[in-house]
Amino acid sequence: MPQIIDGKRISTEIKDELKAQAASLKEQGVEVTLAVIQVGQDPASSVYVRNKKRACEYIGFSSRSYELPEETTEEELLNLISVLNQDASVNGILVQLPLPKHICEDEILRAISPAKDVDCFHPLNVGKLFIGEPGFQPCTPAGVIELLKRSNIEIAGKECVIIGRSNIVGKPMAMLMLRENATVTITHSRTKDLREVCKKADILIVAMGKPRMIDDSYVKEGAVVIDVGIHRNAENKLCGDVDYDKVAEKCSAITPVPGGVGPMTIAMLMKNCLETIKVGE
Ligand code: NAD
Repeated sequence: MPQIIDGKRISTEIKDELKAQAASLKEQGVEVTLAVIQVGQDPASSVYVRNKKRACEYIGFSSRSYELPEETTEEELLNLISVLNQDASVNGILVQLPLPKHICEDEILRAISPAKDVDCFHPLNVGKLFIGEPGFQPCTPAGVIELLKRSNIEIAGKECVIIGRSNIVGKPMAMLMLRENATVTITHSRTKDLREVCKKADILIVAMGKPRMIDDSYVKEGAVVIDVGIHRNAENKLCGDVDYDKVAEKCSAITPVPGGVGPMTIAMLMKNCLETIKVGE
């Protein structure tokens, strides 16, 4: 039986640590406030936004919600961001993605003040990550690092293969693993012999958005497998990019879906909210 990496437990542990820090800040008169903006009523986005507000409540942050209609213009959204950038009582600003097609996501993400960019999407914060400066960390990849560390899985010197090169997961994941002294290979849809490359991994991180594609034939005996993928199957059940049952027989540790990487993303977002206090100092 492999070690099952329990993201639910670890994320609660992190949120409880943040709760204690938020309480001590409150005693010093410092309140952390997150502004969450949603444009339109995409049901999945509404669930994510609700969960983020709930996490704020749990930890003791305040959250302000801006639910804007689908037909909001880019200019209107930029104006709201500008107001929130200048509002000293707002520490973090989050724009829930995806945005409606008539709004350019890049323009919007670049308009958020880098000091309030809790998703760590602004090019300045991405650049800081690449050169190893302290600051915000991208939530999902940072969550993976916490899962490994808090499960006592050694990263330094290990062969790490990442499947996926997106700006949200794959690329920043590679940077964080490099920071932890892993030897990192990034693979993607044009990689030749993906199976052979993956079989070299001591730690295999899968973020390809292909339901249950990675089976045991991609995994070295005793490897650690982290599944970032989230999908709903035909029976409306959640599954990942990894064929859990087959891979679990071969690996030494694995994250389940649900209950693995998923809960960590919000916990790390909350950590970035607290980080705004340091960034703003
Ligand atoms: P994306 O679609 O932006 O990127 C997918 C990447 O996988 C691409 O770089 C592509 O080159 C690569 N890829 C696709 N098919 C491949 C193949 N056959 N072989 C090798 N590489 C292939 O997706 P993303 O935003 O990086 O997300 C990846 C998955 O993680 C999705 O299932 C998404 O829902 C999930 N996700 C989960 C969380 C979380 O909180 N757990 C957060 C973000 C994304």
